Amino acid sequence: MSSRVSESLEIERISTSLYRIPPAVPWEDATHRVSALELVVVDVVCRDGSTATGITYTVGVGGSAVKALLDDYCVDLLLGMDGSRPARVWSLLRAHLHRTGSGGINTLAIAGVDTALWDLAARQSGRSLALVLGGAQTSVPAYASSIDLFMTPAELSEHLAGVVERGYGAAKIKVGCPTIEEDLARLEAARAVLGDDRLLLLDANQSWGVDEAIGRVRAFERFRPRWIEEPLAPEDIEGHARLRQRTSVPIAVGESLYTSDQFLAYLRAGAVDVLQPDIARVGGITEWMRIAHLAAAWRRPVSAHFLAELSVQTMCAVPNGWLLEDVAGGGFAELGIVDGGPLVADGRAAPPLGSGHGIDLLLERLDPYRATPGEIGQLDTKSFKAMEEERG
Ligand SMILES: [Mg+2]
Repeated sequence: MSSRVSESLEIERISTSLYRIPPAVPWEDATHRVSALELVVVDVVCRDGSTATGITYTVGVGGSAVKALLDDYCVDLLLGMDGSRPARVWSLLRAHLHRTGSGGINTLAIAGVDTALWDLAARQSGRSLALVLGGAQTSVPAYASSIDLFMTPAELSEHLAGVVERGYGAAKIKVGCPTIEEDLARLEAARAVLGDDRLLLLDANQSWGVDEAIGRVRAFERFRPRWIEEPLAPEDIEGHARLRQRTSVPIAVGESLYTSDQFLAYLRAGAVDVLQPDIARVGGITEWMRIAHLAAAWRRPVSAHFLAELSVQTMCAVPNGWLLEDVAGGGFAELGIVDGGPLVADGRAAPPLGSGHGIDLLLERLDPYRATPGEIGQLDTKSFKAMEEERG
């Protein structure tokens, strides 16, 4: 290698581990029941003894593939590299893995390494990741997010009363019930509890075709939702643009996009109002920051998907970070993998004091997971047949 390697931060050792962790409360949306999160942890040790921890995850499927991709195809390549250059390592991994796809398992794997190297960079500077990445905001507003399509309107009301009690100024509920009347009953219940001033956000998890989406979202307008998230399949950019022209409800997408180019395509098509990149799915902090800056150039807010403990750092790094997603049952303290209380207080979240990403995982409490063929195959995705039966 011709470039100079900073001796002390030369990567000496990388180990990966996989854990399977059930959500702290039941999760069900229009297309999935989630039985577990899979956490892939990447531990990096440098020649001078410096350490850092990377995190990536799946919603129950593919964790062992992410781990194998790292172990079998990436770790040896990374040994001896300069760990103080996350963007350089990101580009190298991207090129290395690109011929097996531009996103998905590949970017999930890259994220494990990228988040570790950004943790390292921040630890080296003795500051939080949010400050190292720009420190545009000291805290951001958060929203209470629940994966709640199984709740009746009465149960939803009760849940949201707790959200209001805890001081949130915004809450997201699922839509995509078999009938529009059922969705409207949920919106009516939610708006009644949230009152006039709190934001109501909706997530359809790709439930509809464009004509159905236009019909439903226009009917939702009277409840003043602040966004409709993933109304359509993420590949249907033109459909999102059409829907956006036919409704006053802003469009939010991003959790199913994997590259900055995909976000750019949405922006160019006039198909999105709120960008929701997921740090793990876009390949880590390096690409997440590119997407956030791209959003800023188009005068759009960025609202990270999931991983609140890590996302609070990137959201506070940029001026357009707005509404951190705080998923009920998905906080790291709720999952029992970190100590401490909730990240969100009085509806806002701030990065913890201390250096790095500030996530001290308590992994000794968990058994590493080894996937067993057949064990979890049908649990997570509602099959098409089952969904059709539910629809009658
Ligand atoms: Mg969503």
